[in-house]
Amino acid sequence: MNPLFDLSGKVAIVTGGNGGIGLGMAQGLAVAGATVVIAGRNHHKNSEAVAAVQSQGGQAHAVAVDVMQQASCEQMVQSTLQAHGRVDILVNNAGMNIRKPPQSYALAEWNEVMQTNLTSAFVCSQAVYGAFEKNRAGKIINIGSMMSLFGASFATPYAASKGGMVQMTKALACAWAAQNIQVNAILPGWIDTDLTRQARVDVQGLHDRVLERTPAKRWGVPNDFAGIAVFLASSASDFITGAAIPVDGGYSVQG
Ligand code: NDP
Repeated sequence: MNPLFDLSGKVAIVTGGNGGIGLGMAQGLAVAGATVVIAGRNHHKNSEAVAAVQSQGGQAHAVAVDVMQQASCEQMVQSTLQAHGRVDILVNNAGMNIRKPPQSYALAEWNEVMQTNLTSAFVCSQAVYGAFEKNRAGKIINIGSMMSLFGASFATPYAASKGGMVQMTKALACAWAAQNIQVNAILPGWIDTDLTRQARVDVQGLHDRVLERTPAKRWGVPNDFAGIAVFLASSASDFITGAAIPVDGGYSVQG
């Protein structure tokens, strides 16, 4: 393996790593040599994801976390440090959406989306900072969206959270560059996961509209995120920080 991309000896926490895009990234990181901590709520999905990583020869274990709870995020980092003595990579991937017109949201729904998608990423980043500062190295990968760039009539808090994710990425990148901590964001296009499967049922024509607008002429799959995760977690990206990189089959550049 090219040493630039070698993650042997590194420990990576992936929130929402028990399925979809998170699992795609976890598998990529593990194949590159990292020990992966799969952090999710659903115990069954956690166990299945660990088994999937191990079946590829990777090292993984699961930690139960509810990213809406600050104490749970801090516990996730503490238990990782106890188990492995280090943490090198944090992937803030856990996310959810509530789809409805803006005038229909209850405040609790707005808060749930913002807390799950954006506040949790800040809390988890704070929680790893001490370990990263001590190592004088660290990588944070935040998951945004096409809605970091574009509006969406049916997803106001989601778009706000994902737009905020990009600005938070830039702010953390500026703040922590001197500590050799790189903070970057990935902006997925339309990817076939649990999150979008229901949307494709609920929103008539969505499947075909995505195909039409995506130059690559396909929906993305979780494995499309393995490579970018390794790149942003490895020394290959040591001079890249504060970037927001679309992984979208060209969706965001189609006129
Ligand atoms: P999934 O629904 O498959 O994954 C979402 C993950 O988030 C699950 O693993 C889930 O774990 C976890 N999660 C949600 N809430 C919590 C919580 N409170 N505490 C801990 N974990 C939580 O969807 P995707 O893989 O598609 O989504 C992953 C990320 O990618 C999200 O941030 C999403 O916004 C983003 N994204 C997805 C796109 C797509 O087209 N699919 C496009 C753009 C961005 P559990 O089941 O255990 O709760």
